[in-house]
Amino acid sequence: TYPVYGHIDGPIVMIGFGSIGRGTLPLIERHFDYDAKQFCVIDPSDAGATFLKQRGIRHEQVALTAENYRAVLGGLFAGGKGFCVNLSVDTSSLDIMKFCRELGVLYIDTVVEPWAGFYFDTTENAERTNYALRQTVRDEKAANPGGTTAVSCCGANPGMVSWFVKEALLELAKDTGTDPTAPQDRAGWAGLMQNLGVKGVHIAERDTQARRTPRPRDVFVNTWSVEGFIAEGFQPAELGWGTHETWMPETAHRHDVGCQAGIWFERPGAITRVHTWCPTPGPQFGYLVTHNEAISISDYYTVGAPDAPAYRPTCHYAYHPCDDAVLSLHEMFGSGRQQQVHHILTEDEIVEGIDELGVLLYGHAKNALWYGSRLSNAEARDLAPYQNATGLQVTSAVLAGMVWAIENPTAGIVETDEMDHARCLEVQRPYLGPVEAHYTDWTPLQDRWEHFPEDIDENDPWQFRNVLAT
Ligand code: NAD
Repeated sequence: TYPVYGHIDGPIVMIGFGSIGRGTLPLIERHFDYDAKQFCVIDPSDAGATFLKQRGIRHEQVALTAENYRAVLGGLFAGGKGFCVNLSVDTSSLDIMKFCRELGVLYIDTVVEPWAGFYFDTTENAERTNYALRQTVRDEKAANPGGTTAVSCCGANPGMVSWFVKEALLELAKDTGTDPTAPQDRAGWAGLMQNLGVKGVHIAERDTQARRTPRPRDVFVNTWSVEGFIAEGFQPAELGWGTHETWMPETAHRHDVGCQAGIWFERPGAITRVHTWCPTPGPQFGYLVTHNEAISISDYYTVGAPDAPAYRPTCHYAYHPCDDAVLSLHEMFGSGRQQQVHHILTEDEIVEGIDELGVLLYGHAKNALWYGSRLSNAEARDLAPYQNATGLQVTSAVLAGMVWAIENPTAGIVETDEMDHARCLEVQRPYLGPVEAHYTDWTPLQDRWEHFPEDIDENDPWQFRNVLAT
């Protein structure tokens, strides 16, 4: 009863079989026609080994490195066709994507990931930003346009949220008497956002998934990769920087090269808080964790020259992870060391909660619009096996990206902003639970602690100065 979206010719190689890999497997099995004998997982861990063995799935138990990736992948893709699904930490998205395109193999990932060591060994903070990582992929796209499709950063966020931004713009157009016809190109979308008066976008997420037992001390608990979250949490706080901003924090830096759409701070994202809003809690704190989409969305919707734009929206992540992850962060930053025991909450131990992940478009005629998925763990369990709600929002975006790649096999390197959002959401929506639009009259000037003076701009509610919590 599940739609089969196409045939994958040649091997499917999944790099990384952690929480996202495990959840993506059943979606690939459901929705593609392929030769199961040619499915292979590369992962150095034995955590999934029995699972794979029981299903007769080939498992190359090796860590990909800068030294071996050509030999390992070159051997598996010897026929020069197939699909490489990169869902691991510690492997260079850029190197693997380039090699796959050389071979004529389709490629997808969910983050611009570097080789192991990068996040903590690099001493220059500017080089540790997602801006810098993303720019390497954008430079490769510019240097080698077209060719075999490689989809960059196609998870929930980065990924699906870029499709939500477009849906939200069309919703806002409809509700404000603007022509709600979907634009056909980047300039059209940027012009629509500008005309609607959108000042910026929060990727506003509240994860309320919880298990029955309290978090033990010294264990980092999360609903997806702990390693991935710690790595991005220690990167500098970073955001796409809009043209309406009149103030900048003292620790902020611009970049000298590249798209010029972002700035970064001399401070880790996972201890930098922002005021934001989601439907369930209403106003809440989120963490300004750096993400690819903060830069890509600000870049995509820029009107005018990159270094002197007529219009650009501010864009950043405003993430309230599950409560156990908030406590884990608190413990980690307070003690100055990472917990050695990591735990990803499974769909079976979670007893309540949803992952509410959407985009909050603000500063326009109707103040603010949140548009997103409010998927519960209970519903996720009904929809697909081996994953919690967070996982399913990611894996269903990978599925949508794979479908788009098969339907557009020679589109070159693309980000999700550059894909057909309607087609992708059509594929993904059955896995997202309620997808809803919520208007709110909340602004960051409301619900503050009025007993203490604050350095804010009382005349312009949606300044980043008011969003950033001190
Ligand atoms: P995870 O920590 O559960 O699993 C990562 C897996 O990668 C592990 O099984 C590990 O053994 C494997 N691995 C480590 N080094 C490797 C190497 N050198 N070669 C091959 N495999 C290696 O992580 P996850 O939750 O499954 O997330 C996977 C990736 O997806 C991460 O990069 C994460 O940042 C990303 N992610 C993106 C989104 C999004 O919305 N865009 C959401 C969640 C996760």
